[in-house]
Amino acid sequence: MKLPFFLARKFVAAEALEETLPVAEALKAKGLFTTLDLLGEYLSDRNKVIKAKDEYIKLIRSIDAASGNIDQNISIKLSMLGQKIDESLCMDNLHQLLTVAQETNTFVRLDMEGTDVTDSTISIFEKVHSDYPENVGIVLQAYLKRTKEDIERMCEMNARVRLCKGAYKEPEKLAWQDMPTIREHFLQYMEMLITKGRYPGIATHDDILIDATKSFVRENDIASDRFEFQMLYGIRADTQETIAAEGFGMRVYVPFGDMWFPYYSRRLRERKENVWFILKNMFRS
Ligand SMILES: Cc1cc2nc3c(=O)[nH]c(=O)nc-3n(C[C@H](O)[C@H](O)[C@H](O)COP(=O)(O)OP(=O)(O)OC[C@H]3O[C@@H](n4cnc5c(N)ncnc54)[C@H](O)[C@@H]3O)c2cc1C
Repeated sequence: MKLPFFLARKFVAAEALEETLPVAEALKAKGLFTTLDLLGEYLSDRNKVIKAKDEYIKLIRSIDAASGNIDQNISIKLSMLGQKIDESLCMDNLHQLLTVAQETNTFVRLDMEGTDVTDSTISIFEKVHSDYPENVGIVLQAYLKRTKEDIERMCEMNARVRLCKGAYKEPEKLAWQDMPTIREHFLQYMEMLITKGRYPGIATHDDILIDATKSFVRENDIASDRFEFQMLYGIRADTQETIAAEGFGMRVYVPFGDMWFPYYSRRLRERKENVWFILKNMFRS
């Protein structure tokens, strides 16, 4: 059963690419950067994987055709490219995608998914990074106990990292569970990435982390163009504009497509106010 799209509208720009491109243009016109994400994950059918790869390429070409009105930056999930079927199929698809990204000067961020694919995602990233150093970056999650070493390695590789807390339900053995500990690690990694890394994305809606990042760069006299903040479409839109107006880079992650349910349910799980918002709107419409 497919749920009606109006439920997801707060967090998902549109179901069709054609309706998403104007959303990205409007954000750019407000001084915000964007990264467009075609939703979908954990595909297990080869035909669907090939279709997803073609759609990602269509996305890159469509942004390129927008002649500078949309940022040439997309986010993808390797589990959409066949990672759970066969890693070599995934690598092949990723190479095709990154070849087009290189041709069009597009940046492709590999989102990080659950711990069943962390090793595989990092190892695939490390294999492609040397061929496309300007066009591919990765995401690391502050809640994972392994992340400090991954951050160190990414800094050594001069790879671009997005730092986030982590959105999947993970066991205690692998991930910190309580917010103060997750925040403490996030802050430690933020400092490492900003001082030793390459143009990191600090991805959070959490004022404690945002304010600490601003204080850290001010106290250490670090230019605001050495990193950017990132937030999700539909969450704290006013704050996104305020941060950009303060002179910091702010990138909005703009998801679209009809496979929105898993993304949408992660957003609901994160914050009970989001559930109330949806319920209120259900009864209004
Ligand atoms: C750009 C981007 C990309 C991401 N990519 C990935 C990825 O690849 N893999 C992955 O696992 N996760 C990803 N995430 C999700 C991330 O891991 C977290 O699950 C998600 O961002 C929630 O954590 P948070 O730090 O934003 O704040 P939360 O933990 O949701 O909230 C902490 C505090 O922030 C404040 N706050 C939050 N929302 C609001 C609001 N609407 N209004 C007012 N205050 C608010 C409140 O003070 C709240 O207590 C991404 C997040 C972003 C922003």
